[in-house]
Amino acid sequence: LLQLSAPLFLLGMMYREVKQALTNMERLFGLLDERQDVQDAPNAQVLETRRPNVRFDNVRFGYDPRREILHGVDFEIPAGGTVAVVGHSGSGKSTLARLLYRFYDVGEGAIRIDGVDLRQLTQASLRGSIGIVPQDTVLFNDSIYYNIRYGRPEASREEVEAAARAAHIHDFIVSLPDGYETPVGERGLKLSGGEKQRVAIARAILKNPSILIFDEATSALDSKSERAIQAELERIQVGRTTLVIAHRLSTVMNADQILVMDAGRIVERGSHGELLARQGLYTQMWTLQQSEKERPVEKGSEVSQ
Ligand code: ADP
Ligand code: MG
Repeated sequence: LLQLSAPLFLLGMMYREVKQALTNMERLFGLLDERQDVQDAPNAQVLETRRPNVRFDNVRFGYDPRREILHGVDFEIPAGGTVAVVGHSGSGKSTLARLLYRFYDVGEGAIRIDGVDLRQLTQASLRGSIGIVPQDTVLFNDSIYYNIRYGRPEASREEVEAAARAAHIHDFIVSLPDGYETPVGERGLKLSGGEKQRVAIARAILKNPSILIFDEATSALDSKSERAIQAELERIQVGRTTLVIAHRLSTVMNADQILVMDAGRIVERGSHGELLARQGLYTQMWTLQQSEKERPVEKGSEVSQ
């Protein structure tokens, strides 16, 4: 009997592990997947680079082929450098982020990392190299600890807490009765938009990726919290190839290259100073945001999404 029960015990253990792995996969797809028609090429390469160069070469794309959204977008993020993207809502900024993460394949043109077309890379290695703080963060129905550690599942407790501190959410978490074990997501504690963004930032910090994408990563934070986290985001950008989609222009003033998008095209590009000198769309947006800043802001408001 003893001889028999040992293998059975092992089998039970394996079953639980396989089941857990499948559950995690389901969750992964639930979170990441908008469409599953992006496929690995038969000879897909593994992306292995610490400081990749990213190029968008004449990228055209439409979610619906009958309605083109990006009309030939060209830009380059130098290895380890930062490019910022600004523009009115609907101009196609988040679409750039989704294409780089390869939620969708481009219609025409190509996105290349170190010269290799994204479509020639394995999705696992591509996504494993990219840390993304999206506009709307989806949380898993699990503990807040799990949700942060998801950035790098093998991370230690100390590393998870350090990432949470860097994202200015540790103090909030330990103030909860169940601390890091607090269930969040649809069935758990509802976090505000700003808190969810901090979880996403902690995840990205923990993941330690070679490419970072911030899509209006601090838009749900009040301006005081934004300033505090901004410094942290700038610190983690150092040496990583970064695409920053900005909500407030003041957060990207220092970027080497700022792209101004309008209706699916890059209409202006340059440094903050160069763009202001052009007296174009960037100047208009800047002037508008400066005047908004002078209006009194609601005290301590964190927009919930
Ligand atoms: P931004 O981030 O600059 O506000 P987006 O890239 O999200 O703009 O959107 C650009 C355009 O693409 C908009 O017209 C938007 O309606 C459209 N769009 C965005 N996501 C989808 C989608 N999943 N399906 C169809 N159209 C979409
Ligand atoms: Mg957007």
